[in-house]
Amino acid sequence: MEISSTFGASAFTIGDLQLFHNVDDLCVTKLLADCKVVRVGAGQQIDNGAGARLYVVLRGALELMQPDLHGGLSESASGGIVAGECVGELSVLDDEVPAPAIRVLQDAELLLIEADTLWRLIDESNGVARNLLRLLSFRIRAANAQLRRRQKVGEFYRQLSLVDSLTGLQNRAWLDQHLSSMVESTRLADNPLSIIMVDIDHFKKFNDDYGHQAGDEVLKTAARVLTKGLRPSDFAARYGGEEMMVILPGASEDVAMRVAQRLCDGMRGTVFFSDMHRPLPHITASFGVASLQPAQDAGALVAAADAALYRAKRAGRNQVAH
Ligand code: GH3
Ligand code: MG
Ligand code: MG
Repeated sequence: MEISSTFGASAFTIGDLQLFHNVDDLCVTKLLADCKVVRVGAGQQIDNGAGARLYVVLRGALELMQPDLHGGLSESASGGIVAGECVGELSVLDDEVPAPAIRVLQDAELLLIEADTLWRLIDESNGVARNLLRLLSFRIRAANAQLRRRQKVGEFYRQLSLVDSLTGLQNRAWLDQHLSSMVESTRLADNPLSIIMVDIDHFKKFNDDYGHQAGDEVLKTAARVLTKGLRPSDFAARYGGEEMMVILPGASEDVAMRVAQRLCDGMRGTVFFSDMHRPLPHITASFGVASLQPAQDAGALVAAADAALYRAKRAGRNQVAH
């Protein structure tokens, strides 16, 4: 860093600076007169290892860098620090060194206020102390807003990680997280709960005959048939491969059998490839229904639905069993 002229050489007056706005104490002018002004070229990083100090931007712009996931530094999302603004006050106040790395965005002229000088400014000028408080409350608001944005992004990705990318249904991770707690709360409330295991019939042959891409389209459409046939309070998840699971909170076995039959009919009646010129077999699925029994846990409930599905397959597929 090349030390240049004094503060007075810049086009700025003290009152233009955020921290000294509406401050006309003589003691402030005197203390600032002893502060260094330095020039730093764009792209350089400011070495703040010497100790906590405040940097007031007289010209140019700075940016704060923060550690990234790969152990390097990336620019902070808070934007640039431009003329009139300052950075580093937190390190002075809590004496935490080093402060975040600072990089020069545009050729800059900086007024350096060492920690002891800033403390004297605070002690001797109410105006500086008030401006600093205002600045800190602004920083807290900005940090809170950034935190909220990050939480939203985090929640978005958390939800995304629980959705199957091909079908848009909830995925197996979602099922593993939610089915057990649904079973527990249903048992505590003494409510019914039923599940339906759904498996597309002869899907291996379909893939062999028409290719995996056509198979993927079938899975997507089959998932839509399920979700369209359910109420908003029901759930549909991809259990794995071409097996899907429907969860019907509050549904007795009778109700679940009727829902499964409706889904089975819907699957059989769906035109899967309306725009293809070659004829395709109707796609059907088999359905195994199970309702929560006393003392059954989630694993036993799924096993019961699986056994019912096996019976539907054995009985000729394209049907419902319990
Ligand atoms: P069944 O009527 O007894 O259920 O016979 P199946 O052929 O449907 O059952 P099987 O378990 O033998 O084969 C399942 C097939 O599902 C094999 C696998 O290639 C296919 N499959 C699983 N996941 C996907 C997927 O994501 N996309 C596609 N296209 N096929 C899949
Ligand atoms: Mg299967
Ligand atoms: Mg199958």
